[in-house]
Amino acid sequence: MNRRLEAELEPEAEPETRSASQRAAPNGEYDLVIIGAGLTGLSLACWLLQLAEDGQATLPRVCLLEPRTSYSNDRTWCFWDLDPHPFRDLITHRWFRWQVSRGNQSACQSDANAAYAMLPADVLYRHALARIEDTLAFDLHLGVTVSGVEHTDDGVLVSADQRRWQAKAVIDTRPPGKGQLTSGVGFWQVFSGLEIACPKHGFDTSTATLMDFQPGYPHPCFLYLLPLDEDHFLIEWTAFQPEKEPAPDYRSDLDSWLQRQELGYYEVTREESGSLPMLRMPNVQNSGRVIRAGVGAGWMRAATGYHFVSCQRGSAALARQILAAHASGDWMLQGPSVRAGWLDWMDSVFLRALKRHPDKAPQWFVKLFAATSAAQMSRFMNDQPRWRDALAVASALPPGPFMRAALPW
Ligand SMILES: Cc1cc2nc3c(=O)[nH]c(=O)nc-3n(C[C@H](O)[C@H](O)[C@H](O)COP(=O)(O)OP(=O)(O)OC[C@H]3O[C@@H](n4cnc5c(N)ncnc54)[C@H](O)[C@@H]3O)c2cc1C
Repeated sequence: MNRRLEAELEPEAEPETRSASQRAAPNGEYDLVIIGAGLTGLSLACWLLQLAEDGQATLPRVCLLEPRTSYSNDRTWCFWDLDPHPFRDLITHRWFRWQVSRGNQSACQSDANAAYAMLPADVLYRHALARIEDTLAFDLHLGVTVSGVEHTDDGVLVSADQRRWQAKAVIDTRPPGKGQLTSGVGFWQVFSGLEIACPKHGFDTSTATLMDFQPGYPHPCFLYLLPLDEDHFLIEWTAFQPEKEPAPDYRSDLDSWLQRQELGYYEVTREESGSLPMLRMPNVQNSGRVIRAGVGAGWMRAATGYHFVSCQRGSAALARQILAAHASGDWMLQGPSVRAGWLDWMDSVFLRALKRHPDKAPQWFVKLFAATSAAQMSRFMNDQPRWRDALAVASALPPGPFMRAALPW
């Protein structure tokens, strides 16, 4: 296994400008280079392996390039577990009941066939890295920050420092650039979370609290609480902010809330925080030998910040194309569409209405979950609503603000 480890992460460099004659010979020649081995890069690798096994197809030679030098348990992925994917057996928790609340009002949904599922990042990383390690056709190079992607006569040349990789095609999963994050309509989902060990904490272990709105903030702010068992829970303080910065001290808000619960002895076992762009990404040029994938390609759902399921859908579609390209020798690829365009449009109307009336968010979300069924909401949240689901969602919301938000001015 050709795995390179470097001691430090390197700063992102300017794109390469050297001419073909100045180029060093490539370090490796591959069918496919995947830039970034986060959720999308690793999902794509695992989908390639699974689909090749299922269809007895030959695997292309694949190289994954990733700046980090080691993986940590840096996040948990939660999603409605409706469709198969290569990581399904790794899910650690499932809740068949979930709720949204504000003060003493709450809306609960439950369905024995629709679970809200949790998959810790370290479990997924360990599994995917082991699968890659066991596959002769795949190489993972850690400690590599890609700085250049150039088309050549017979493919694409990817560069990082003095190193070069030649490929027939490239899937670029790097996060969105600053230029992609300037959309006026949308929010930043900023959150600060803790995993807590607390004997007999008393929270109902059968129910995931998706949103428990907190009063006194100028923008929507809520608690997200997942009881993992009787003695452990994950809690996050989340805000939909108009800008990424400045982020108020949500950690201290969370600490004060925990103090008020009079939980007795508890211990923080892990911390997790992030800021997710709830924005519609500008369309990326996406056909040919270099394809954007992941959050930078708009796969994350703008109105929710959920990405795991669309990432599996997009990775599966790309993996099918790549196996077909490897079989036919035609490496012209298309960026997959991960959800219907009208759903993206619905999300932008929702975000525009929410931006104009942030104080109404608690009321709207509770109403939405009260007026729809668990099956409808789980399909809607997973980007696969039937038309009746979309209609139920639309009619649960007040028509005035949403019709005004749908107007183009
Ligand atoms: C703390 C946290 C919790 C989340 N929880 C959920 C959840 O519960 N459910 C859900 O659906 N979504 C969740 N998300 C959102 C989303 O699923 C994740 O952000 C997901 O990791 C995005 O996948 P990605 O592959 O697009 O990006 P990443 O996983 O970030 O992968 C991109 C990769 O590109 C690499 N990279 C960057 N620059 C370069 C470069 N120059 N050269 C090479 N590689 C580069 C990065 O190191 C990284 O590994 C969460 C996000 C965070 C941060």
